Amino acid sequence: MPFRFNGGLKLNGHKSATADVPIRRAAIPPMLYVPLQQHIGRRLTPRVSTGQQVAAGELLASCDGYVGAPIHAPVAATVTGVVERAVAARGAPRQQCIALATSADAAWPGSIASEAETVAAVPAAQMLAAIESCGVLGLGGAGFPTHVKVREGLHRAVDTLIINGAECEPYITCDNRLLQERAAEIAHGAHMLARLVNAHRTIVALEEDMTAAAAAIRPWCEQLGLTLEMVPAIYPVGGEKQLTRVLLGREIPRGSLPIHIGVLVQNVATAAAVYRAVAHGGKLVSRVVTIAGDVASPGNFDTLIGTPVRAVLAQAGGRFEDDLQVWCGGSMMGTPLDDLDAPVTKTTNALLVLPRAPARVPLPCIRCGACVDVCPASLQPQALLDAAVALESEALRKLHLFDCIECGCCDYVCPSTIPLAATYHRAKVHLEEARVAQLASVAVRDRHQRRQARLAQGRDVLVEELITPPAAGDELRDALAAAVARARQRKPDDGAGTI
Ligand code: SF4
Ligand code: SF4
Repeated sequence: MPFRFNGGLKLNGHKSATADVPIRRAAIPPMLYVPLQQHIGRRLTPRVSTGQQVAAGELLASCDGYVGAPIHAPVAATVTGVVERAVAARGAPRQQCIALATSADAAWPGSIASEAETVAAVPAAQMLAAIESCGVLGLGGAGFPTHVKVREGLHRAVDTLIINGAECEPYITCDNRLLQERAAEIAHGAHMLARLVNAHRTIVALEEDMTAAAAAIRPWCEQLGLTLEMVPAIYPVGGEKQLTRVLLGREIPRGSLPIHIGVLVQNVATAAAVYRAVAHGGKLVSRVVTIAGDVASPGNFDTLIGTPVRAVLAQAGGRFEDDLQVWCGGSMMGTPLDDLDAPVTKTTNALLVLPRAPARVPLPCIRCGACVDVCPASLQPQALLDAAVALESEALRKLHLFDCIECGCCDYVCPSTIPLAATYHRAKVHLEEARVAQLASVAVRDRHQRRQARLAQGRDVLVEELITPPAAGDELRDALAAAVARARQRKPDDGAGTI
């Protein structure tokens, strides 16, 4: 591989305990809690009522706006209400969840033959509709609705589609196992996505040590005209920008995304979900979650969305003791999870049980520059730290705060144990909230000024307001919701995985 990205770390992967163990199905729990907000975008509106019986795959909630992905009942169940609880996602946010009492005779959704057949005859519009209606979103962690990302790709000339299997964060092997066991689905999903966005070429990218996964998908790549590339196992090579740089040698300008230079990146699990949606109408109601660390039987578990973390951990022989901390996500970018009743979401890729680390008191920065050397975004972390602590918006923008992917490399090497990534994250949330507040106030002022102008002209204000199309307001609300959600994510792009 002739290209590389700046910085990064060679880490101990801790993957052997789970990478070689077949995926197991987590049991259906008595209660499921399906969160209404699992994607970047607008919150969904429930389409069911308390007491209603729902069939497996039945619609639970959908979105009135453009940026959203519907949710469905994973199995036959009875709706018992809407409850608020922390969810197993980055930041462990509290969300409204639809509570489902599962039926005694509920069964896992039917399995799909591993020998996926080609569905070349499906028109593009039909494929897009299936992806949208089945609730497919980026399963690499970011959670952006896939139909929106694909439509964005249609508006820009996509020359390269990258299917991201470079699962670079320690402990996580859910994509690795999926590649080994569902390679046909991934390859066919990749082929569909390539047809959808008219990509000239499609690259399936894996880390160089994923040899079993490569062996499983290689025949399908050859059959479908996809290129298989192995990239160095340097964290965070799975970040969208880092992977694009390594594969294509192309730099993505500051403040831009791969799509802005004609590259669409999708995660391998997303590709498999696209195949299931298009070929079988399969709703996204389960996902593979890595359970690793201090558990008796680590592995990857196909888990129904809404399953409480406690239930799935118990199946891996997890202990729930004070000296252990459960993490949602990997050891570099994960979030501590204190509420084990939190449900698994579409973006929960791993649950780790690790010894609780003693509290560290950060020391002052000694300007050693170690953080600069490892930063994959070529930032100045120590300068960013000063600006982030002082919340100096102008300085933060000049230092390209929003190019930080919160990979934690700087934290890892900092001799002063300063929580750098968390500090940048807080600064991002602060800046985004300030920007959204400003946008909202400009929108209110503009509306007031237009109204005053119409009144001055003696026009019928009420009628004009009634006939004003709501789309502009919807788009603004979608954009604002997406902006805040992006800022609240620990990882703004795909980081260790991909949309
Ligand atoms: S967390 Fe941000 S600043 Fe730190 S190394 Fe990663 S990209 Fe650079
Ligand atoms: S690694 Fe830590 S101590 Fe060294 S320059 Fe960066 S922030 Fe300062």
